[in-house]
Amino acid sequence: MQPSELEALAHEFGNPLYVYDAEKIESQFHRLTNAFSKVEKLRINYAMKALSNVSILKLLKNMGSGLDTVSIQEVQLGLHAGFTPDKIIFTPNGVSFEEIEEAAQLGVQINIDNLSVLEHFGTKHPNIPVCIRINPHVMAGGNENISVGHIDSKFGISIYQIPHVLRIVENTKMHINGIHMHTGSDILDIEVFLYAAEILFDTAKQFKDLDFLDFGSGFKVPYKKDDIETNIEELGKKLTKRFLAFEKEYGRKLALAFEPGKFLVSEAGYFLAKVNVVKQTTSTVFAGIDSGFNHLIRPMFYGSQHAIENISNPKGKERFYTVVGYICETDTFANNRRIAEIHEGDILCFRNAGAYCFSMASNYNSRFKPAEVLWKNGKGHLIRERESFEDLLQNQIMIEV
Ligand SMILES: *Cc1c(COP(=O)(O)O)cnc(C)c1O
Repeated sequence: MQPSELEALAHEFGNPLYVYDAEKIESQFHRLTNAFSKVEKLRINYAMKALSNVSILKLLKNMGSGLDTVSIQEVQLGLHAGFTPDKIIFTPNGVSFEEIEEAAQLGVQINIDNLSVLEHFGTKHPNIPVCIRINPHVMAGGNENISVGHIDSKFGISIYQIPHVLRIVENTKMHINGIHMHTGSDILDIEVFLYAAEILFDTAKQFKDLDFLDFGSGFKVPYKKDDIETNIEELGKKLTKRFLAFEKEYGRKLALAFEPGKFLVSEAGYFLAKVNVVKQTTSTVFAGIDSGFNHLIRPMFYGSQHAIENISNPKGKERFYTVVGYICETDTFANNRRIAEIHEGDILCFRNAGAYCFSMASNYNSRFKPAEVLWKNGKGHLIRERESFEDLLQNQIMIEV
């Protein structure tokens, strides 16, 4: 999107504001389906925790996407957006048994990631097919926060415990219809991905009645200049070849599933905030915006680098700024960043604001959550109203004290 288009949206809908470009979501979706076009049964299940606005869900549904959900509320939102249960997979971690049963009752695919629940579920509901989430013990990426495949991860059933899984299946006569892995959110190297895939194939061989193999996600998108991104096209070529060979070996056609979040929506998102104050100290120039980690926590939570542009003065001379929020905490979005000269009242634009931005927003400091706009066919459509004072009071009870 052009700076002028974004600035016009900030004026039309106010700030701070999240904007999502529908065309970018569509092009990412098609990049992925094109890369795996030789796979007969390809399932893309959008990981909705990245961005869960129902209009975004509907947009993805209309493209033919399925849905990856991690809570019963996400399942319900997905159904509300029009997904049929057969297009939804429920991949929870550490939720109650009742929540899993509730999802199964709604008819969605259950994905179980521990032996205790597997045994309990198989005993009680031997006729409901389940997928199992394995932990292939592969480190993807260097950041401990986002590597979920390693040995002490809380996610998945260790591949060393497959004999126990087989014992449970034999004892309960339950039906395992899929094998799943999701090794984290930062796969730098497709060789690592392919290595983990081999482990998944090895595991799959031990189950005779599978319908699908789910390779999760972890596709990396660029956040800053020169960032590495997952080469989807190359992964498509290599994994398709391996997958087709595996199908032959397995003796039956399988569906191949992915569940990308970031890949589909990260780059489609823009976060717009207004500069309230430019403040010089002895060593720094701060640009203080009308937002904070209540609206966009990734820089403080993960150390993520979101590119920041001054869309009110895009051609201005670049200077160094430390961009901070208005929360009564240290909430630094960027340190010593080169940005086109900033004046009070300018609108700054944060890139890669589609994934894990609004969906992690809170009301800290009793601030309203921002509005959300979908940019489609050259027009901004409001898809979430800015919160109001009534929203802050909703559910609160002021008792006589
Ligand atoms: C979060 C999550 C994803 C999506 O990860 P991205 O890095 O956003 O693509 C996929 N699968 C599961 C099980 C997840 O928890």
